[in-house]
Amino acid sequence: MDVKPQTLRELIAQRVEHTLAACTRCGKCYQACPMPGYSQKLAGASPGSVVTGILGMLRGEAPQEQALEWTRICTQSASCIPACPEGIDPMMMLRIARFAALGQLGGEKLIRGKDDPQFFLKIMAWARLQLSDQERAVWQKPPIADRPHGDGAA
Ligand code: SF4
Repeated sequence: MDVKPQTLRELIAQRVEHTLAACTRCGKCYQACPMPGYSQKLAGASPGSVVTGILGMLRGEAPQEQALEWTRICTQSASCIPACPEGIDPMMMLRIARFAALGQLGGEKLIRGKDDPQFFLKIMAWARLQLSDQERAVWQKPPIADRPHGDGAA
């Protein structure tokens, strides 16, 4: 990965190439993931074969059901990143597979994304119900209109 990518598409292409070349399908990223235990579709899944399915998605192949499911339930915990002995970023690998599953790389849309334009507003409303004012001051950015430059700067 010597040439710095200029666009998101170039970044994705570079990451895909690196991942396909370096991944040994050891499955350690899958084993480190906290999410499969919450999915019946992944009960008893072979870590190596789920990762093989993810690599197929990166190549543009039709996804295996279990690879698609892992892609769908990823919460970006990042637990997988230190688990990879090859220096791959498996969270990015899964993120790109998710782009593919959402049809964002030109293929068919196979999973649902966050189509609700109110999604993040609902999360903020939910946080207001769950957190104290003090906790929100630490954990939540103020609404954009209330920020010093009104432009999303922290
Ligand atoms: S831990 Fe790294 S090398 Fe092993 S399957 Fe995951 S991405 Fe591939």
